Amino acid sequence: MELSAASGGAALLGGTAAQAAPRPAGGPPPLGPVVIGPADPRYVELTTRGHNGRFTGSPDVVHLVGSAEQVVRAVEEAARDRKRIAVRSGGHCFEGFVDDPAVRVLVDVSEMAAVSHDPERELFAVESGATLGRVYRTLYLGWGVTLPGGGCPTVGVGGHVAGGGYGALSRRYGLVVDHLYGVEVVVVDRSGRARIVEATRDSTGAERELWWAHTGGGGGTFGVVTRYLFRSPGASGAPGGLLPRPPAAVRSVSLGWQWQDLDREAFVRLLRVHGDWHRRHAGVDSPYAELSSGLTLGHRASGRITVDAALDASRPRAGELLDAFVAELTGAVAAPYTVTAATTPWLKSVLGGVQWPGGARFKSKSTLLRTPWNDRQAGVLHTYLNRGGEEFATAGVYLTFLGGRINTVRPDATAMPHRDCLFSVVHEALWGEERQTEGQLAWVRGLYRELHADTGGVPVPDEANGGAYLNYPDTDLADPRWNTSGVPWSTLYHRGNHRRLQRAKERWDPLDLFHHALSVRPPERFSSRRPGRGPTLGPH
Ligand SMILES: Cc1cc2nc3c(=O)[nH]c(=O)nc-3n(C[C@H](O)[C@H](O)[C@H](O)COP(=O)(O)OP(=O)(O)OC[C@H]3O[C@@H](n4cnc5c(N)ncnc54)[C@H](O)[C@@H]3O)c2cc1C
Repeated sequence: MELSAASGGAALLGGTAAQAAPRPAGGPPPLGPVVIGPADPRYVELTTRGHNGRFTGSPDVVHLVGSAEQVVRAVEEAARDRKRIAVRSGGHCFEGFVDDPAVRVLVDVSEMAAVSHDPERELFAVESGATLGRVYRTLYLGWGVTLPGGGCPTVGVGGHVAGGGYGALSRRYGLVVDHLYGVEVVVVDRSGRARIVEATRDSTGAERELWWAHTGGGGGTFGVVTRYLFRSPGASGAPGGLLPRPPAAVRSVSLGWQWQDLDREAFVRLLRVHGDWHRRHAGVDSPYAELSSGLTLGHRASGRITVDAALDASRPRAGELLDAFVAELTGAVAAPYTVTAATTPWLKSVLGGVQWPGGARFKSKSTLLRTPWNDRQAGVLHTYLNRGGEEFATAGVYLTFLGGRINTVRPDATAMPHRDCLFSVVHEALWGEERQTEGQLAWVRGLYRELHADTGGVPVPDEANGGAYLNYPDTDLADPRWNTSGVPWSTLYHRGNHRRLQRAKERWDPLDLFHHALSVRPPERFSSRRPGRGPTLGPH
């Protein structure tokens, strides 16, 4: 469905699908257009919003947009002037896609952050600049519902949703994109004309493919999303029934061991027991089907290894189930441990977490595991987590339990193909100063390469690995120095969905105006090796 920019997106130009959720009538006019150049004191605020201190962009201009119509104008201008464009929402990208020095025009959607219910269409509309914290708060306090998204409240929906989105409620309710009804996107045709398109799960033909491409195909790739529309499949009626309802409170346990109390053998045994327990309870038929569980393997310099798990506090026998979980894990090794338990109102548990330090430099590498680490890999983890001193106190490996409802969805039902994985793993180095960069990168790259030594240094999809998660992008996967598997990065991220994503790309961004090092490229520009260096056709 195409929407007229001049009409505020409310008028239908073609197609028969229902109209976009109306914007609040009679409210204040939207902010902007605010167009900011390097001489403006606000420029530095907007060009340093990125979470990863390794990257700072230097665009000619930043468009702080307040409406989809302003996005149309900014995008059309960039296409006309053949300038490289990028869009930023929450700024949590792991890589420098938005802050690439080649980007000349930055569209910042962070002031478009409304969350509203449309009673006529029976859906929720979330503007693409909203943060997860804002979305959780408004959806829950307003209507008692939520989305099963990530745990960091300052992540933006702009990138998070387009990449799939998982969090503490995902084993119970699936991924965020499993509840994505539609997208409103500014796209650009071959002539450089920009327009607003709404594409939904109920659309047909190319428009349905545009919706599908946004269910895991990644941000910064097809256009500028201005709004996401949410309604769970099959849901209708009152707002409280349109999206998942979170538990009123969560019962959580936190288990901790000190590195000094674990020798190599005990560490390997602990990981073996942890992995085996989670494998047994990954399915939707387990009494632990709704358990969220994370393992933090901090570097030895941080002192600790922790397991955090939680269940709906109102679930019958929640306390008993958590006690049994704790007993099995703590029984794995003879080392002393600490355990704390708490019951917390749900929204507090989501918004009250420790905030990640923004502005620090980091490099994170993703693996989706289909089976637990084997003993060789546990040994590699032990070696690296004990290598180096205080400068690695903020490095670590973070493992999140997947499975449950996530794995009940067909791999091609959404563009997010990883529907058979047990754990999502993030291997991370995090540091403060430029002079540390080389050593920190070497640590995390070495760890990852050795973990995946049997498959060319990367998690090639097989019986043990699912691949990597697109919302945790890592340009090393497209670099032959670090990926010697012969399997392209696109397979690691998109598996069998890549070709279909390329077709959507060809149709909806024929100029490849929206691109970065790991964006889906049209076939003629696709390089399995060198990120972002296809033939230099087109306007940039
Ligand atoms: C501390 C931290 C915790 C995280 N926790 C989780 C988690 O629990 N679960 C999980 O699934 N992920 C998690 N992530 C990953 C997160 O989902 C991705 O980094 C996500 O892409 C961030 O989106 P953003 O809008 O904040 O970032 P941005 O940097 O603004 O954008 C990321 C990408 O999306 C594009 N993009 C942004 N807005 C738009 C738009 N409106 N239209 C089109 N493209 C757009 C950008 O161009 C860029 O390519 C976490 C990341 C961090 C840093």
